Amino acid sequence: MMIVVMKSDATIKQVSAVIKKVEELGFVPHLSQGEERTTIGVVGNERRVDPQVFMVLPGVEDVLPILKPFKLASRDFKKESTVVALNGIRIGAKEIVVMAGPCAVESEEQMLTVAEAVKKAGAKILRGGAFKPRTSPYSFQGLGKAGLEILKTAREHTGLAIVTEVISPRDVDLVASYTDILQIGARNMQNFALLEAAGKTTTPVFLKRGMMSTVEELLMSAEYILSNGNGKVILCERGIRSFEKYTRNTLDISAVPVIKKLCHLPVIVDPSHATGQADLVGPVAKSAVAAGADGLMIEVHPDPEHAMSDGAQSLRPAEFAELMTELRQIAHAVGRSL
Ligand code: PEP
Ligand code: MN
Repeated sequence: MMIVVMKSDATIKQVSAVIKKVEELGFVPHLSQGEERTTIGVVGNERRVDPQVFMVLPGVEDVLPILKPFKLASRDFKKESTVVALNGIRIGAKEIVVMAGPCAVESEEQMLTVAEAVKKAGAKILRGGAFKPRTSPYSFQGLGKAGLEILKTAREHTGLAIVTEVISPRDVDLVASYTDILQIGARNMQNFALLEAAGKTTTPVFLKRGMMSTVEELLMSAEYILSNGNGKVILCERGIRSFEKYTRNTLDISAVPVIKKLCHLPVIVDPSHATGQADLVGPVAKSAVAAGADGLMIEVHPDPEHAMSDGAQSLRPAEFAELMTELRQIAHAVGRSL
């Protein structure tokens, strides 16, 4: 793949001519219009094309190869950070965006209680799984469509946006018809059929890093979504497997600046699944904001002792509200708002 860099004063007509040429040659054009420069990604198979074909077109400044394995996800393709906008929320801008809610949608009462509480504390997005990817087939699998209905009700009551997981390609359209953001979980990060299906929607996708995946593999998974036409991808670091046993996973905090350097997409940290313990969520959440994360995903449950999943790592609403106050100070210290 390569990118065609347009001159800063290139006209719309000249950009269109390049796009037409890309299509004529049997490649798919991906347009990136930044403030500084407009680039056109030339995406296709491994077939090589002579850069000269584009160099001769008016308005073209340069034709560069993208050497990294991920292309549309890379900063080489798009220099400016991507802001994913939904419902008046901007993920990847100055404001730290917090997604909060229980691991699983259990009942309407539970969701409405949590939704009101996290909204009051400053969260912008409500989370809750209706389709749960459980390690054991005997564990609670989620309420399915009934859970989506409950999320819809909570959304209507509070105005909060919704993020919920989809675990099968066949459910993508159904889940997308209810939610503001499609979550693809750690266990499905390399479910390529699911990535493709999500990439064919226009719904923002929240892509969690697999527990045994490298940053490069995460970015290649994002590339599946981007190359299928959906540019609204939000990445999530949620801890990886290590030999350490005192935490559920090991948060790879350096993944935040590493991804920020390599990739233009927003990065969210999930301290709940990273640690597995409610008392560790606060310190780890603060470190994530300090390290440059664009937001957090935090599990909150009105009654963690009786949660149907992940109770041990869930904050009570009051604990969450207190943490939000502390996070605000960290955000300000690093030039962000919350
Ligand atoms: C979740 O967010 O509820 C979840 C299952 O997370 P992960 O995919 O990171 O394990
Ligand atoms: Mn969970």
